[in-house]
Amino acid sequence: MRGLVQGVGFRPFVYRQARELGLSGFVRNDSGGVVIEIEGPPDQLSRFRRCLKAHAPRLARIDATAQVDLPASGDLGFVISASHGDAPSATLISPDIAVCDDCLREMQDPADRRFGYPFINCTNCGPRYTIVWRTPYDRSHTSMRDFVMCPECAREYHDPLDRRFHAQPVACPACGPRLILHDGRVELTGVDAIAAAQAALREGQIVALRGLGGFHLAVDAHNDAAVRRLRERKLRAEKPLALMAPDVEVVRRYAMVSSFEAQLLTDVTRPIMILQRRERGARVAPSVAFDHACLGFMLPYTPLHHLLLRDVFDALVLTSGNLCEEPIAIANDEALRRLSGVADLFLLHDREILARCDDSVVRVSAGRRRLLRRARGFVPRPVYLSHPTARPILATGAELKSTVAVSRQAEVFLSQHIGDLDNPAAFAFFQECTAHLCRLLEVEPELLACDLHPEYLSTKWALNQTRIPVVGIQHHHAHLASVLAESNRSERAIGIILDGTGYGTDGTIWGGEILVGDAADFERFAWLEPVPLPGGAMAIRQPWRMGVAYLHYAFGERCLSQAWPFADHLGTNERETLVTMLERRLHSPLTTSCGRLFDGVAALLGICGRNTFEAQAAIALEMAATIRGAGHHRRCSAAEIPGTGRGPLAFAWLIRDLMERRSQGAAIKELARDFHLIVAELFIGSAVAARSETAINVAALSGGVYQNRFFFEYMHRRLLEEGFDVVTHGLVPTNDGGIALGQVVIADARSRAHA
Ligand code: ZN
Ligand code: ZN
Ligand code: FE
Repeated sequence: MRGLVQGVGFRPFVYRQARELGLSGFVRNDSGGVVIEIEGPPDQLSRFRRCLKAHAPRLARIDATAQVDLPASGDLGFVISASHGDAPSATLISPDIAVCDDCLREMQDPADRRFGYPFINCTNCGPRYTIVWRTPYDRSHTSMRDFVMCPECAREYHDPLDRRFHAQPVACPACGPRLILHDGRVELTGVDAIAAAQAALREGQIVALRGLGGFHLAVDAHNDAAVRRLRERKLRAEKPLALMAPDVEVVRRYAMVSSFEAQLLTDVTRPIMILQRRERGARVAPSVAFDHACLGFMLPYTPLHHLLLRDVFDALVLTSGNLCEEPIAIANDEALRRLSGVADLFLLHDREILARCDDSVVRVSAGRRRLLRRARGFVPRPVYLSHPTARPILATGAELKSTVAVSRQAEVFLSQHIGDLDNPAAFAFFQECTAHLCRLLEVEPELLACDLHPEYLSTKWALNQTRIPVVGIQHHHAHLASVLAESNRSERAIGIILDGTGYGTDGTIWGGEILVGDAADFERFAWLEPVPLPGGAMAIRQPWRMGVAYLHYAFGERCLSQAWPFADHLGTNERETLVTMLERRLHSPLTTSCGRLFDGVAALLGICGRNTFEAQAAIALEMAATIRGAGHHRRCSAAEIPGTGRGPLAFAWLIRDLMERRSQGAAIKELARDFHLIVAELFIGSAVAARSETAINVAALSGGVYQNRFFFEYMHRRLLEEGFDVVTHGLVPTNDGGIALGQVVIADARSRAHA
């Protein structure tokens, strides 16, 4: 049997089934999965096969079963035999799993030998991916190798009927990892350490907490001064902070939680869920998320989280342990060094983290789970392609929200969220992560795939690997291929790819594109009319610059005679300089970006003029459009929209219309909402035109703009109404975190075409 069958209690499960049915034989792990030899009367054998399917352990996942008949040996008894590790590895490593109910019960039972023990785990729960160095998944290949099991733990580990049979991280207070509280003066361990950390949190101190995939910074979510201090020290001005609450009922006091959202919150992956704030609900400190309409909540997933929160806090801020933009810290000395200016005290432990892994972030849109950040709980689960790649491929992703991907046959392993590579520490993590993934999967890449952008560090790194051929892949083509691949679609599709930034085949910056194609190739069918990006990358951080660019695009030189309320920090000279810059295209590369359009309109409507974090202006525009009282969706139809079809899509009329209505006193929320709908209809109209030309009815949606739930849901619904077969992301992010998957399938298709 192949699939996720190791480290999930599969062999003891097989053992119990075989024993109960009185069958003989053996079960063992090998690097291809699990091998079972089973002997007995035919009817008992078919019962055994049915049981394997029906009652497999909750974390197991059987992807393939092969069966051969053997002559009966007459042996009696059933055994679990030693692992064979010589065949090439095809086994899957499990993601880290939230602590299970059985372990929680034991941890809360004063009579249990693991009472209050923060590292309790079993075959159904606990760390996996973050503690493994290489396959097969055996204790000697994990960071638990440093801990010698005590006789009691060893007995459980070797007893096939025990819940901890071959649970590699098995441990207890006598033999396992321990907590150490560090505040620069004293060191405390165990229960005292937890009590001291709770006391410090109650006093408004900032605690650095070593977790599963790295450090968190924790602070009392009701102490505004403490949260502000955390923001100052962490250099994180405005981006909302994640919260942890003890259970779903507590989360409901603060936010709206649908039954589907509750299911995802309590799922073993325990992601941060982006939830709508409850209007007259309980409040956290204002500085947790300022005026954001949403809050990010997760539930405890390690035993330590439960111990820390229980009966003391109904909400803690729990944000990644780093300075703004850097990767999360994982080692004790690293945290003490990097976070010394941020945390007041450190709650450390001595089980090493081998793979850095942030919390995953999920938002439900159009009734689907959408991943904004894919990391802990999801990695290293593969995405399955409809056919195997011809050879192992390593794709290096993009630049922001970077991830890498490695293919092994039909499986593509997308790495955890790495971060923004322009940060040197993140680039080091990129290299570390790439090497780790290849080692773990025992894959030696034979082909590299990278973005076309010559300045991306991931591209430069790929081009420096001289031993292996490299394929450069257009960014938005990769977006299209990514959404098609995760949905197992191989037919041609109309990709409506709405994104921030991507290097185009013509050297301009793309981002508002209709691409018709598949993994093998694409045609650029339509795009937003190009507009200069005044000051290049500066215009991304300063949406007011885009506001000027769109104003100039809509009104030409006449824009100077207009009011610029969104940029009133600029004097007359500065305005004239900017307009000259735009007219002569000085430091102003052309862009068709849809993300910039959202930014620019947020500025023009006076909603947000600067981005202190990615997509801040676009998020503010979405909030304005969905604010209470923004009215029901006005029906808007493609027929009202001029200029849809093939080629550049003009939208100067839209900017003029918004500005005119604004000067007549129209409500900002209505303008924001209409803008969303009209942009959607502009692309829907063009997709309809593409369909009539090509007879393709599949519409594939990808790109960062679809993180906007209001826009995504409207687009999704309207495309269905137009009769399209709509393909959207569910397994990988719609932002650049999903790019590497698309790069793998395109590189594979190209290498086949040339073979
Ligand atoms: Zn457990
Ligand atoms: Zn022990
Ligand atoms: Fe992108």
